[in-house]
Amino acid sequence: MSLAEGTAAAARKFVFDHFLEHTAPPVVEQVMTASSLSREEATDVYRALEEARHLALVKGTARILMAVPFSAIATPFRVTIGDRRYFANCAWDAIAFHAMLRDDVRIGSSCHHCAAPIELEMRGGRAVRVEPVDTLVYLALPPTQWWDDITTTCANTMVFFASPEHRDASALCASATSAASLTPDQVHLLSGPIYSRKLALDYTRPSREELLDHFAAIGLTGDYWTL
Ligand SMILES: [Zn+2]
Repeated sequence: MSLAEGTAAAARKFVFDHFLEHTAPPVVEQVMTASSLSREEATDVYRALEEARHLALVKGTARILMAVPFSAIATPFRVTIGDRRYFANCAWDAIAFHAMLRDDVRIGSSCHHCAAPIELEMRGGRAVRVEPVDTLVYLALPPTQWWDDITTTCANTMVFFASPEHRDASALCASATSAASLTPDQVHLLSGPIYSRKLALDYTRPSREELLDHFAAIGLTGDYWTL
C-alpha cells in the first residue's frame, strides 16, 4: 500500500470511527492534528475519499455531509443504538446500521407520503418490529443512477412508505422497472457486502460483479437489478 493509499485508508477509518463515537463527523482540523497533515493535504484526503465514494462533502467546502450511512445533518431517518442517536441519510442507510454494527438498532422515521410515524427494530439480522406492518423501503432510482448525484439520491429517492397504497399515491412513485419496493429484511440482506466491513481499515467498496452476484444470491433479479 502506498503512502497516499495508507493515508486515505487511515483517514477514512478516522472519519467513520469519529462519526460512530461522537455522532458527528470530524472537521479538517482534526484530521490535520491526528495525521500531522497540512490543511491542503488533509483537504485533499477528504476530496480523494469523496472521489472514491466513501463520503460526500457539503458543496464548495471541505466539510463532511455524509459518510454513508452516517449523516451530519438532521434527516427523517433517526437511528438509536444504546444511548447514541444518529441520523441516517436514507431509509436504506437507517437499516444498514444493523449490518454495519450488528448491534440492536431502533429506527424512527415517517411515511414519505403522509408523514405518519414509522418504527422499526433490527435485531439478530432481521426486523423484529415493523410498525405499520406493511412498511416498505422504496428505491425510486435504478442502481445505475444512484451515484449520479449521491446526495440527491439519498435525500430524495430512498424512503419509507407506510403501505403500498401510500407508495402508489406518492408523487415519487415510478414505474416498476425503474424502482424497487423492499421489505426491511430484504434491505438488511442487501446491505451485507456494502456495509458490514465499513469500520475495517482495509474496507473496499464491492465491485460491480460482486454486487450483481450478491443481488442474485438474495433473490433480487430482473431489469431493475442490473448495473
Ligand atoms: Zn403514508
